[in-house]
Amino acid sequence: MQAGIEINDYLLILLIVCVFALFWFSSDMKQEHRAQVENQELMAQIRSTEKDANMRKKQLLTIVTSLPFPMLLLDTFGKISLYNTHLSIFGPLDNIDEMTYLNNKFHTKVQEFLKDAYILEKEMDEIKRIDHRDYQALAIPIRSKQRFSGCLVIFQDITKTLAGEKMQKRFIADASHELKTPIAIIKGMVEILNREDFNDEATQHDFMNQISNEIERLDLIVKDMLQLSRLSIDDPILDRRKCDIVSLIDQSLQPLKKMAKQQGLEIITNYNWRGQVFLDPMKMNQVLSNLISNSIKYSDHGEIRIQVDGDDKYVTIQVHDQGKGLDEVQQKRIFERFYRVDDDRARKSGGSGLGLAIVKSIVEAHGGKISVSSAPNQGTTFYIQLRN
Ligand code: ADP
Repeated sequence: MQAGIEINDYLLILLIVCVFALFWFSSDMKQEHRAQVENQELMAQIRSTEKDANMRKKQLLTIVTSLPFPMLLLDTFGKISLYNTHLSIFGPLDNIDEMTYLNNKFHTKVQEFLKDAYILEKEMDEIKRIDHRDYQALAIPIRSKQRFSGCLVIFQDITKTLAGEKMQKRFIADASHELKTPIAIIKGMVEILNREDFNDEATQHDFMNQISNEIERLDLIVKDMLQLSRLSIDDPILDRRKCDIVSLIDQSLQPLKKMAKQQGLEIITNYNWRGQVFLDPMKMNQVLSNLISNSIKYSDHGEIRIQVDGDDKYVTIQVHDQGKGLDEVQQKRIFERFYRVDDDRARKSGGSGLGLAIVKSIVEAHGGKISVSSAPNQGTTFYIQLRN
């Protein structure tokens, strides 16, 4: 009986041990399974992070290569770790992966800039003139946890911007000079007229006439400057329509015929092409009037010939005179604002010196071209080419 109880006890103990073992085994299995799942999740995460990093690297490379200016990235050790091919304008890019801020074959000014940017570890913004072009060189330091870990270097071509600024400065200086002259004349005359002892009626009359002329000149300069500034915007407003080119020239000629006759000049027209051109008639009338009146102003003998030639693509208008002509230097400068060959004569003839600059702007606003051919004392021809 006692042995039966013992056997039962053993069995019970064995059962309990088995249950524990089973429990322990199953929890171990669960743990292993959980670890396995976690492991898989971690691997997936690593893979996606790696994929993300690769994608980001590719995106960065695409951005860097499509940037329209030369750029490079110096890493913590001063090595070129990223760059774009625009950099080749400063030197060869072979073996660029081995190049550093000290060891590269770029233009000396670029080398100096890279060296300073890396050693000084600070933001830099300088203008560098390299191979006849102006670049704004920028260095932007990169910091990670407050520590310098390289820098981004960018070169932006600002040649056009600087040239524009220079031109604007010159225009303002020239315009002030142009405006100062009539103002000084008016001021001087008014001061004399205001003197208490002044009582010369003839001089007073003469001064009043001169003041009136100078005021007209000021008015003309200001109006021309305003028109030029309106034309120099990117997309000037033109009221374009199909116009008969021959009628337009005849219209421009009409008010100038008397002036030509008075100077003993003969006006000849030679229309080899007739047709319609898509243009702004008011503005083109201004162009033709200016060129024809200039050819009258600057000629004292011979003929003024206006010729039209064309084909199915282009129409060319020539305004030719046999007047004083222009040498090569003058021909190059003739379309500049306020440029005059003979300052005194041009001033007396009442021009603002902006006429040809306006003419050029109008022709170019139409998508056309203007050029000049001339020789001293052998006359001048202006050519305007427009699209049909
Ligand atoms: P302006 O108003 O002084 O005439 P323009 O811009 O029309 O100014 O002309 C600039 C300069 O170009 C003139 O001052 C003149 O010296 C020269 N010029 C223009 N047209 C002719 C021409 N047909 N023959 C000779 N010189 C010319």
